[in-house]
Amino acid sequence: MQDIMTRELQESMDIDSAGRSIESPNGLKGNGFHLYPVSAGASGEGLPYAPEDWPNLGDKWGWKAGRRITNSGYYTDRYIYPPIRLCQDGKASSFKSRLSLEQYIRAKFPDADVYAFFASFCWKIPSESCEDNDKEKFKSLVGISEHSGSGNDLRCKAGNKVCSSLGAGEMSDSAVMFCDICCNEPGFCRDCCCILCCRTITEAFGGYDYITCEANIEGCVCGHNCHIDCALRAYMAGTVGGSIGLDAEYYCRRCDSRTDLVSHVEKLVKNCESIDSRDDIEKVLKVCIRVLRGSKKTNAYHLLHQIELAMEKLKDGAFVGDIWKKEDASPVTSDNEMVELSPIANGASKSTDVKESRDSETGSPPTSSSKFHHRVESLKLEDKIDQVLQALRKSQEIEYRLAEEKLSAQKSHIKNLYQQLDKEKSELSGHTSQKDQDELFDVILNCVDQIKQEVSKFKDMEEVANGFGRVPKHILQEQFGLDI
Ligand SMILES: [Zn+2]
Ligand SMILES: [Zn+2]
Ligand SMILES: [Zn+2]
Ligand SMILES: [Zn+2]
Repeated sequence: MQDIMTRELQESMDIDSAGRSIESPNGLKGNGFHLYPVSAGASGEGLPYAPEDWPNLGDKWGWKAGRRITNSGYYTDRYIYPPIRLCQDGKASSFKSRLSLEQYIRAKFPDADVYAFFASFCWKIPSESCEDNDKEKFKSLVGISEHSGSGNDLRCKAGNKVCSSLGAGEMSDSAVMFCDICCNEPGFCRDCCCILCCRTITEAFGGYDYITCEANIEGCVCGHNCHIDCALRAYMAGTVGGSIGLDAEYYCRRCDSRTDLVSHVEKLVKNCESIDSRDDIEKVLKVCIRVLRGSKKTNAYHLLHQIELAMEKLKDGAFVGDIWKKEDASPVTSDNEMVELSPIANGASKSTDVKESRDSETGSPPTSSSKFHHRVESLKLEDKIDQVLQALRKSQEIEYRLAEEKLSAQKSHIKNLYQQLDKEKSELSGHTSQKDQDELFDVILNCVDQIKQEVSKFKDMEEVANGFGRVPKHILQEQFGLDI
């Protein structure tokens, strides 16, 4: 143990000298590692940042630097890849933590000297963007923050002892998206904190209280979590109108991706089967109902109906094991209405569509499903409202354009008359004979009359400000050319 710490301290000292070695070629140190800073996302094989000739001669491990950098100038995330011959099915696997790598080594090579393994290469990769003065800072920090654990520096930033990142021993930790917003915050851990309230999430009952964004952002997973409650309150989950426009979906504030919540709820409902406590089942179902409420997706409201039925049974005191059982009130109901839980997981939407059309054909719904039919009817009405409002918006736009066009045309007409009036006036001042003057006077008076008329027409047209419906018929016909 002591050896490793001493060794790592030496390695970190090497980084400093390696930085300077750009000027001086004598960058190699006694321990054999020639460390060089690398750019974000850089990758390579073997030493100094991955093992070589281990476990067999000629074996080379791969390494890749992440993007986040610690205060001390190292990459926070770094990935290590076993030699391809060790990967199952030839599929590349990666490890992002010392702990998961250590667990892998212990499981796969029980006799191996894990300390010697980690000492054979340098775990930490220095960043190229780390300035020399930062390196000085890092020198003094090293040994305080990085070596407090037992051979691994894995710690949840939020101090969460049950953080999923600590228990992870899985082979393939896929690369997570670079984040310098929330993930830069001290105390925020992407693996266990809610992106909205920053409190930790819980894995209880299949993780019913949060959703993880698994969107693929340029080959990396977003991986940010959010409490469902927080997302619902912030109108970032469930069914939300307006510009966000969600339909039983979750909107990730970090990466702007949407996640379907129907399949998430299906998973939660499935999980309910293994929960014994009524209170706990109720807690989970309440969340499910809030997520699905108001959705226009066919599979969402079928699922919601089922959950509501289960909730009713639960409240009526039914046995926990019975709440998901089919009702056998009438043959029609059991055949057509109820959707069993298992088909949901295998894509119930196909079958539910068929059921819906059959329901509308029969015309007389069985009483036990009247609630369901109300919902279908009310959704149909909502659809109608949408159509009507869209049509209204369209016709309003047409009326607006017509009003704009006609008002502008009238304005130009009046303007032209004024210009003509000016012209006549100036001609009048140039003529001296009484006859000419009289004639021009008539023309001018005529013009003034015409202007008065057109201005009064314009005033009539202004009525359109309150909508075409308020404009008197004759004005619509004469000024707007509308045939009523
Ligand atoms: Zn983040
Ligand atoms: Zn954590
Ligand atoms: Zn939260
Ligand atoms: Zn996301």
